[in-house]
Amino acid sequence: MRYFPDSLMRLLTELQKLPGVGPKTAQRLAFHLLKEPAEDARRLGNAIGTIHEKLTNCTICGSITELHDDPCRICEHPQRDHSVICVVEDPDDVSIFERTGTYSGMYHVLGGLLSALNHVRPEDLRIPELINRLRGGEVAEVIFALSPSVEGSATVTYMLQHLAPHDIRVTQIAYGVPIGSDLDYVDDVTLSQALEARNEVG
Ligand SMILES: [Zn+2]
Repeated sequence: MRYFPDSLMRLLTELQKLPGVGPKTAQRLAFHLLKEPAEDARRLGNAIGTIHEKLTNCTICGSITELHDDPCRICEHPQRDHSVICVVEDPDDVSIFERTGTYSGMYHVLGGLLSALNHVRPEDLRIPELINRLRGGEVAEVIFALSPSVEGSATVTYMLQHLAPHDIRVTQIAYGVPIGSDLDYVDDVTLSQALEARNEVG
């Protein structure tokens, strides 16, 4: 066991709580911060320390937005297509679709997928919020862009019952591309094509 002063040990402990950061990476990051000007470390600390105060979930789509910018810029954008809603699992997925620059509709973040194994029930997801959005009559299509896993399929199946009473087109993006947690590894062209070649469901 290597010896570190208490303050450094505290930083290492916190860094190692981050996904993908093991002891070695934590040490590399910590020593890098020590070498850099103090101001850089302060700025980083400040950016991390204030994310919960400055960011919130958009009250309409559930994506991440500035506290003073709710509803988010996508939901409020006058030029975007408010008649199409792309349903995704996490806020992170929104940024991935936005990266492609080809989708101009709305989003709806569920906040997870139904899973008996992980005890995720329908009431844990933002399903009523989506149904509410359909009541205005402006929405013509809902596109599912969920992982093609057992949980993703179960979520789509469950939601189809709730979408059925509404007179809307329900589609899902063309699979054959690894999506879901691996959405980040799909290149923009493939993702755009998967969206373009979406199929009717239900
Ligand atoms: Zn929004």
